[in-house]
Order: sequence, then structure tokens, then C-alpha cells
Amino acid sequence: MALITKKIKGTEDVLPKQSYRWQFIENIMREESRAYGFREIRTPVFEHTELFARGVGQTTDVVQKEMYTFDTKGGESVTLRPEGTAGAARAVLEHALENEGLPIKASYFVSCYRYEKPQAGRLREFHQFGIEEYGTQSPLADAEVICLAQSVLDRLGLGDVRLEINSIGCPTCRAKYNEALRAYFSQYQDQLCPTCLTRLEKNPMRLLDCKSPEDHKIAEGAPKITDYLCEECEDHFGEVKRYLDSAGVAYTVNPTIVRGLDYYTKTVFEFITDSIGAQGTVCGGGRYDGLIEELGGKHLPSLGFAMGLERLLMVMDAQGVEIPQPEPCALYIATMGDAAKVKAFSLLSRVRACGLTAETDVVGRGLRAQMKYADKIGAAYSVVLGDNEIAENKAKVKNMNSGEQTELALDDTFAEKFSVLTLTDKTAFKI
Ligand code: ATP
Ligand code: MG
Repeated sequence: MALITKKIKGTEDVLPKQSYRWQFIENIMREESRAYGFREIRTPVFEHTELFARGVGQTTDVVQKEMYTFDTKGGESVTLRPEGTAGAARAVLEHALENEGLPIKASYFVSCYRYEKPQAGRLREFHQFGIEEYGTQSPLADAEVICLAQSVLDRLGLGDVRLEINSIGCPTCRAKYNEALRAYFSQYQDQLCPTCLTRLEKNPMRLLDCKSPEDHKIAEGAPKITDYLCEECEDHFGEVKRYLDSAGVAYTVNPTIVRGLDYYTKTVFEFITDSIGAQGTVCGGGRYDGLIEELGGKHLPSLGFAMGLERLLMVMDAQGVEIPQPEPCALYIATMGDAAKVKAFSLLSRVRACGLTAETDVVGRGLRAQMKYADKIGAAYSVVLGDNEIAENKAKVKNMNSGEQTELALDDTFAEKFSVLTLTDKTAFKI
């Protein structure tokens, strides 16, 4: 029985007193996405397994080791989404969104599921904010998407986050590069981890992204993709850098970044911090020009990024970034007796209609306990309603901070007058 009151390993609860932190970062993400012309897309939490196998890539850690896959009662294999791009791409194809004009620009918030070893910054259920743009090969789009990520991170108040970019080329340059990688890694065959050994044939670039420390060390001496780019990819990368320079976005080129997913082409980038230890990548993205074709559509060059929300919150904590507290309850109405309860109920709905938070006792506590509760929730004002107040049709609203009292009539003007009071006397709000 104990099990049912324990959450599953690698998952986390967001409790009511913590959720404002999430809402703060999500609001910034929504505002920035809107400023860049992205609109939200929402897709199902599970999809056909085949979609992720094809869309994320057979040789990735995600597909090879981390997916939550199960058979439905109907005998279909479905998978909890490990990331947000495949579902969005599927929706683009299914609804033929390219007919509505290009580029297609979408943003998303998703929960993701990966069977990984839980540790700080690495969960089995985690959350991402992401951007998808389909139908442009312009380097301007790459720079714009990177700028959007940078704006979000800036507005979150993060310092010490660096941007690293790379180009991993197109299938043409990749063919030559893969040969060079195979030649290089073959010298170390007896030292590579078993997964990498299988990747050596199918997708040697994956070896650069291996998490095993030994393989990582070997990968450091590997040939660099930037020496193998074809002219077109080289030009494209040059343009991306030129746009970033002109926007004043600082970056370094890191030729070892290849990103974890198979579908990336040309530009790849990561925003990395050293504030939270090993799991320091807070945002990863790039171009995936071949993805839509891989899923059976036309050639539709695309790009995007994803940010891990848990990791961002960890960085904000580590850096002591202050997240503004939400406004507390504006008015607590304490009641004595049935008539007061009825009166309180009608006043509350009007105060709430003015956009203020208002509460009353729903537990049946005595007056003292009600006032203690008002204090505990940080109510800015309180008012006590009893038989006397009802008979006189007026009551004293008390500023819980200063103790100052203001008499208000308990009639149709109450909510509006109270609202004006909160605006003229902000001292009651302890934030
Ligand atoms: P990593 O190299 O850390 O495993 P990844 O390359 O697998 O990351 P992506 O698939 O690009 O990550 O996901 C984008 C972002 O989502 C990451 O930069 C990170 O912030 C976050 N993320 C990825 N996996 C997890 C996880 N298991 N728990 C929490 N956040 C995660
Ligand atoms: Mg990973």
C-alpha cells in the first residue's frame, strides 16, 4: 500500500506553492514566442512508436535505450513522447499545414518521457519549451531562432550561459566525414562501448555524442566536421554567424557538438551553463532539413530548439535569480453566523469579478482561527462580518500590514470601493 503514496522514480510534483515559478518562466516563453510570430501547437502525449523511431532516429540513445514503449489492448505499439519535434512534424504532415503558407511557425510546451538514470537535472518525466519552424532554408531563420532562445534566457535573468554553435553539414559532406570518422574510431575498436561499436557502421557521428567518459576522451581527437563541410553548408554557416554577429549575440564555434537526435543537418547549437554541474545544457537545437521527408512528406527544410524547464529552474536557483511572488489574497472575509456567510458569499463573487483574489472560511472555524488563516495565506486585507455589520450594512476593512481600517458599506458599491482601496494603498501587499 505504501507504494501508492510514492511518486514514480524520476518524476517530480510541482506543488501549489511552487507553481508560480513555472508560470513565470512559461509566461516569458509565451511572450517571446509571440513576439517572433510563433503560435502554440499541442499534440498528444503518445504517438505510434514508428514515428519516434523514424523521426528521432534509430541510432540515438533516445530510441535505443530510453523510450517508454508499450502495446495497447488493440495490439498497437505506442510510445510516450521523448521529445516534441516528432509529434509536431507529424501534425504538420497530417494537417497539410504547408498549404497555409510557409514558414509554419509553432511553439510548444510538452512533458517528455525518457527512461534514463535519474539524477540532478535528469528525470524520467521532464518538461520542455520548444520552437518549430518548417519550410525555410534561410540562415536568417537559424539566427532568428537562436536569438529567440537567447531572448528567453536573458529575460529569465540568467548569467553565465554560453552559446555554442556548429554545423554538421548535409548528407553530401556527411558522407566524406563519416568515412573519416570510421577510419579514426576503428583504431580504438577495443576501447569503445558496445553501443558505439554498433554505431560505428551505421552512424559514426553518434560516437561524438557518447556519454561514456572513455569514449568521450577518444572523441576529443576525432576529425572535425567543420573541415569537411561542402561549399553550400560552409556558406550557410557563415551567414548564420554573420546574422548573429549583427544582432550582437555572442557565441563560440564548438565542432564537437552534434546533438543527440539523428535528424539534424547544418546548424546545431546548445546553450550551456556551468552553474548546475554535469547536466548543464539548458537548450539544444538546430536544423533538420531531412526530417519531413524522412516521415514521408515533401522536402521541407526545418529547424527548432527545445529547452528543459527543470534545468532552467535549477540554474535560476543556483544563480539566486529572484522570481516574483504572485500577488497574495487581496481580501479575506471572516464570518460569524449564517447571515454573515451568505453576505460574504455575495460580496466575494463581486470582488473576484474585479480581478482580485478573495477568500472566506469554508472549513467552519471560529473567528480567531479564521484570522490566523488569513495571516498565514498573507491576505492583504481582512474584514470581519457578524450580525452587527449585517444590521448596520457596513464593515471595517483592515490593512493587515499597517492595521489601518477603512469603513465600507456592504452594498453594491463594496467591491468597486475595495478595489480602489487596494490600488491607492499598496502597503497592504507584502510582496
Ligand atoms: P543531454 O545531452 O543532457 O542528455 P539531450 O541532447 O538528450 O540532452 P534534447 O533531446 O536536445 O537533450 O532535449 C533538449 C533539452 O531538454 C536538454 O537541453 C535538457 O535541458 C532537457 N532534457 C533532456 N533530457 C532531460 C532529462 N532526462 N531530464 C531533464 N531535462 C532533460
Ligand atoms: Mg539525453
